[in-house]
Amino acid sequence: MPGVAVVRGPELLRYSFPGGHPLSEVRLKAFFELLDKEVQESNDGVFFVKPTMASEEELLLFHTRDYVEFVKKRCEDGYGYLDYGDTPAFKNCYEAASYVVGSTLELCRMVLNGRTSRGFNPMGGLHHARRGAAGGFCIFNDIGVAIHYLLDKKGLNRVAYVDIDCHHGDGVCYDFYNDPRVIFADIHQDGRTLYPGTGFEHETGEGKAKGLKLNIPLPPYSGDREFLEAFNKVINFLENYDFDIILFQTGADGLAGDPITNLQYSPKAHAYAAEKLTEMAEEKCGGNIVAMGGGGYNPNNVAAAWVNVVRKLAER
Ligand SMILES: [Zn+2]
Repeated sequence: MPGVAVVRGPELLRYSFPGGHPLSEVRLKAFFELLDKEVQESNDGVFFVKPTMASEEELLLFHTRDYVEFVKKRCEDGYGYLDYGDTPAFKNCYEAASYVVGSTLELCRMVLNGRTSRGFNPMGGLHHARRGAAGGFCIFNDIGVAIHYLLDKKGLNRVAYVDIDCHHGDGVCYDFYNDPRVIFADIHQDGRTLYPGTGFEHETGEGKAKGLKLNIPLPPYSGDREFLEAFNKVINFLENYDFDIILFQTGADGLAGDPITNLQYSPKAHAYAAEKLTEMAEEKCGGNIVAMGGGGYNPNNVAAAWVNVVRKLAER
């Protein structure tokens, strides 16, 4: 295997909300700047791939047609909101969001084709978008599309999804809540104190998926110690199941100094999680792991956390 595929290119920077919004291209630029300092392409087990745009048909694997049409229309207008006030429309936002989805899909395709077993899409991980709605800065849910692609189009039996963003991954949790093909584990700041206000311990899935969803809310100001304890629970949980690939959302907004959240991790949290999941992928599913970015609104934190993720993916 040639190393970890990292998606890179100006198309990803287009996913940038205007007017001083916390999610702008500044974050990704900081990440690539640090990555260039710390890691050499090929020598360090990292190689870059260009962003790919998802087709409308691919978006429809997860999203409703009405919603896709709605985004198109708002995007043409180039103003207003796609939800109730967190996620503004901007010119070409449809294309920008489609590049995010297509790039996560491309990494999944590369893994299935055997070109690599590990990938990272720093602009992916848009876990709040629902089948029929935007939410929390997320227009299209690249994870949701990837899950349907892997299971419905490519015939995989089961996907393990792990989410360490400070916010609960509601768009993945509830839109696959009764799907036993998706093993879900999410560590986040307690929903009583942060958007989207969900992800409680008693939410464990329903129907045939009862017990297959693990939500671990942490109180505000929890740090690395609490994270490690929670993450070991995730590892123990995953040990119980078989799956074909790990999808890993690595939001960096749980780090101390994030302007919109209250957890206090250090970048070591991301290194630990990436190392453990890379090991688990080796043990369980032929090393297959596709990691994505997610939240993170302090550019230095984003850069440090995600460089750690890439390093750990590359070490194997
Ligand atoms: Zn977040």
